[in-house]
Amino acid sequence: MLTITPIPALDSNYFWVIQPTTDRPDVYVVDPGDAAPVIDFLIRNQLRLAAIIVTHRHHDHTDGIADILECWPVPVYGPKSERIPSVSHPLADGDLLQLDGLELHVIGVPGHTWEHIAYFYSGSQAPHPLLFCGDALFAGGCGRRFDGTAEIMWDSLQKLAALPDDTRIYCAHEYTLTNLEFAQAVEPDNTELSHRLAQVKDLRARNQITLPSTILLEKRTNPFLRCQQPGIKVFTEATTRRQMNSDAEVFGALRLIKDTWPN
Ligand SMILES: [Zn+2]
Repeated sequence: MLTITPIPALDSNYFWVIQPTTDRPDVYVVDPGDAAPVIDFLIRNQLRLAAIIVTHRHHDHTDGIADILECWPVPVYGPKSERIPSVSHPLADGDLLQLDGLELHVIGVPGHTWEHIAYFYSGSQAPHPLLFCGDALFAGGCGRRFDGTAEIMWDSLQKLAALPDDTRIYCAHEYTLTNLEFAQAVEPDNTELSHRLAQVKDLRARNQITLPSTILLEKRTNPFLRCQQPGIKVFTEATTRRQMNSDAEVFGALRLIKDTWPN
């Protein structure tokens, strides 16, 4: 059976460890921003690293790669970008990554950064489809927009929203609580969101992980996937005192509002 385990690291990151089958010790690690916790985890659990998988260039996703390669000289799969020189096998939107019988579909999701890619699995080794999406989409939120237009990033998030409802979302940070607190300020009448916020508060009070999420839950409670909702348009227009003419414009405004929220 395929298993997925988080290594909590740095301030708020999760490095995801994918083990295709518990019959064998081979594993893949996603976005290792620090080497020590990964090396410690692999040795302690007697696992063998088969490859590293990267979603985008940011240091908290890549800084561990060089030291891990000293211990396990494995392929590094990631975006085609000169800003991630450790990538040995470059990938782009539409590529299929074959790992030990696992087929991961590469989805280009520019916006947080230009080169950002996500990995989607929908095979028979897991009971649900899986998405490893780095900082493109978070539980209850999305990454900041560093590169490109709001329209480009909105289109990227729409691609993820179109994945099957039961897709399990493995994003790279434990930001769910603050994301949902912002979401509730945007959509105070969304009862499913209020319910989710209460659950997440309870989990975090006990220092529990809030992931994975699902595409369905995000479509119902994540304002950054809901910019076509009239209430969210009204919120962004009232906050910016500007008329919004498209869903992408609402998205861009909402992302900028969150950058300085709650100030
Ligand atoms: Zn990032």
